[in-house]
Amino acid sequence: MENNDIIIPSEFQSALKGKCPRCRTGDMFEGPLLSFGPKKMRRTCPCCDLKYEKEPGYFYVAMYVSYVFVVAQLVTACVGTYILTRNMESPWLYLIVAVTTTILFAPFNYRYSRIVLLYWLTPQFKFKPEWFKRCMEKVS
Ligand SMILES: [Zn+2]
Repeated sequence: MENNDIIIPSEFQSALKGKCPRCRTGDMFEGPLLSFGPKKMRRTCPCCDLKYEKEPGYFYVAMYVSYVFVVAQLVTACVGTYILTRNMESPWLYLIVAVTTTILFAPFNYRYSRIVLLYWLTPQFKFKPEWFKRCMEKVS
């Protein structure tokens, strides 16, 4: 690929793939979302060296994002269960649905709460096209 042909991925695409918010090239996490491998978050971007946790405890803020996700998922799951079963008697059904939903979505929430935090709630982490270019040259 020639240098002029390089297409910069959109913000949403990069966020979806868990790329670094500054260079959109380096992976923020060690493994893909749907795998049994390690899902740990890297400390710094492997490409532009951006430190993701910009200050100690910064990812506590991601808990609030995660909370919003969990509430949305639980409401959807429980309303969905009601529509499918019309059950108004057994609280156990809803408890089981809620616990299962929370466990199933935990890896998703962990990852995307941090991605949303770094992409849209951290004004210091802006996309820098210079970094994207430099990182693409490093890779090729
Ligand atoms: Zn980066």
